[in-house]
Amino acid sequence: MPVIDLRSDTVTKPTSGMRQAMANAEVGDDVYGEDPTVNRLEAMAAELLGKEAGLFVPTGVMGNQLCLRLHTQPGDEVIIESSAHIIRYEGGSASSMSGVQLCCVPGTRGLLSPDVVETAIRRPDLHTPSTTLLCLEQTHNVGGGSVYPLETIHQLTDLARRHGLGLHLDGARLFNASAKTGVSVAKYACLFDTVSFCLSKGLGAPVGSMVVSDTARIQKLRRLRKIFGGGMRQVGILAAAGIYALEHHVSRLAEDHVNAKHLAQLLLAIPGLAVDVESVETNMVMFQVPQSSKSTEQLLEDCRKAGVLLNAVGARSFRVVTHLDVNREDMEAAGQIFARVFAGS
Ligand SMILES: *Cc1c(COP(=O)(O)O)cnc(C)c1O
Repeated sequence: MPVIDLRSDTVTKPTSGMRQAMANAEVGDDVYGEDPTVNRLEAMAAELLGKEAGLFVPTGVMGNQLCLRLHTQPGDEVIIESSAHIIRYEGGSASSMSGVQLCCVPGTRGLLSPDVVETAIRRPDLHTPSTTLLCLEQTHNVGGGSVYPLETIHQLTDLARRHGLGLHLDGARLFNASAKTGVSVAKYACLFDTVSFCLSKGLGAPVGSMVVSDTARIQKLRRLRKIFGGGMRQVGILAAAGIYALEHHVSRLAEDHVNAKHLAQLLLAIPGLAVDVESVETNMVMFQVPQSSKSTEQLLEDCRKAGVLLNAVGARSFRVVTHLDVNREDMEAAGQIFARVFAGS
């Protein structure tokens, strides 16, 4: 029986069409700017997001961290939501790579509100660190794939601009937000100085993220990428996967959202399991099994043995993510497995 892997949308494998595109890619030395396929991907990403230029980076973490370095000086303070990826899952690199202090502001399902951000912005004073950057995350990972309404982003970015802050969007799943709301990725991106997004998640590429910005900033980021060890050579083979992903896998993201919603509805029917179906906006479902007598690890193990992989996000609290490599039937099968494992636990 094949395993249904719902741990993350990073687990997707390249399709045969994508592999074909990779095999056929024209390549050159990208550190010399001579890889035509990378150049095409960078231009394509910039155009899609309405920015002047793009930069292909190995990972989303590197994309975010290059932007943090670009926007700050050591000792500066960056305002960010408390459960952001940059805080939780990037190995503390904001402090080690850029020497910045993170001002963690709690949000609701990961989403910040303008009044709390306004309070967090330091007023210039001899004693205080300088607040120089606001980072937002769209969709919010730990928030359960939650989506900032465009109006809230407008309020937050207006506020940041009034205080002279730089603006970075960790848009790892920005295309999921756009698929949900119908607001174009460019409409989100135009409100930020720098935007990063992942090709290797719901879009299904094996590797890679993009950063987009204006030409001057991308030039600086290109140098920073080299300094951080991310200068790559005949990497058109990977860029071809990214181009293929942008051409073929954007319009299908809505399917992942339908599947996630469907799975949430199946979970709702399982006694002892708590899930908020309303809060499922994109491709993630968070749920809890608060009364279980088993440990979180044991429950994960029981699911694994029964044929479903998922991640824990807290004590008896779990996350499942839908993606390119799972379909409606997998949702039905996973729903039945969860019912068996959790109902009797
Ligand atoms: C996945 C992710 C990233 C980047 O992670 P990589 O594994 O380095 O590609 C950044 N931000 C968010 C919100 C993410 O979910």
